[in-house]
Formats: sequence, structure tokens, C-alpha cells
Amino acid sequence: MSECVFCKIAKKELLTGLVYENDKVMAFKDIHPSAPVHILVVPKEHIESISHLEGNHRDILSELIYTAKDLAIKSGLKGYKLVFNVGREGGQVIDHLHLHLLGGWNRKSDIDAMLHPELDK
Ligand code: AMP
Ligand code: ZN
Repeated sequence: MSECVFCKIAKKELLTGLVYENDKVMAFKDIHPSAPVHILVVPKEHIESISHLEGNHRDILSELIYTAKDLAIKSGLKGYKLVFNVGREGGQVIDHLHLHLLGGWNRKSDIDAMLHPELDK
């Protein structure tokens, strides 16, 4: 477990662009942003993925979503995406649960490219 990069960030063994933390969750800027605003909201407890949630994790899951909503407001986002990648086939690379908050596409051309990627070729 000590090799987990997000556990290392939670234990402050690794520096990151921290934007928020409380006793249950932390939020930091994605190191390779896929959007003008790209923040990861992560439980401090090591939970591998959505597939590994157990009955006692309802509070954590709720905390992740409410934290993302609050950070979206603080970031001035009117619309945004919240994404959980689950498992390798779902695009998950880091095996520590995290919620992607993505937004900040202000230019019409960016929004068109996001909604209709086939037109962008
Ligand atoms: P996923 O594909 O859902 O597992 O996403 C993992 C995300 O973590 C990717 O968007 C990475 O860019 C991001 N990431 C990996 N290492 C770090 C790090 N040390 N600090 C911030 N973001 C990271
Ligand atoms: Zn971990």
C-alpha cells in the first residue's frame, strides 16, 4: 500500500497542488490536466475503486461528490463533468479511488469539439 501515489500525497510524502482537504478527503490539481480546470477529489482512506466500495463507504462517496460540487462553485464553473474511471478497461490508471472534476471550457470552439469530437477531425 505504501507504493500508492495518492496515499503518499495523503501522507504528505509527495507534494502536489493541493486545493482542499478535510479529515476524510483531499483535492489537488491533476498533474496532466485534460481540461482548463482538472481537479482530483480523493478519499484519504485507500479504497481501490468504485468496484471496491463497501457498505461503510457511503459517507466517503457523498463527501467526494459534495467536495467536487463546492470546488466547482469556487472555481467559477457553470457546467462541469464528474468522472470516476473504474478498472483498467474503464481507463483507471491509479488504483486509489478518485473523482475527476473537469471544466472551464469557455470558448465555443472548445465546447463544440467536446460535444462533437467527430467534427474536429
Ligand atoms: P485515472 O486514469 O482515472 O486513474 O486518473 C489518474 C489521474 O491521476 C491522471 O489524470 C493523472 O494525470 C493523475 N495523476 C497521476 N499522478 C499524479 C500526481 N502525482 N499528482 C496529480 N495528479 C496525478
Ligand atoms: Zn492509496
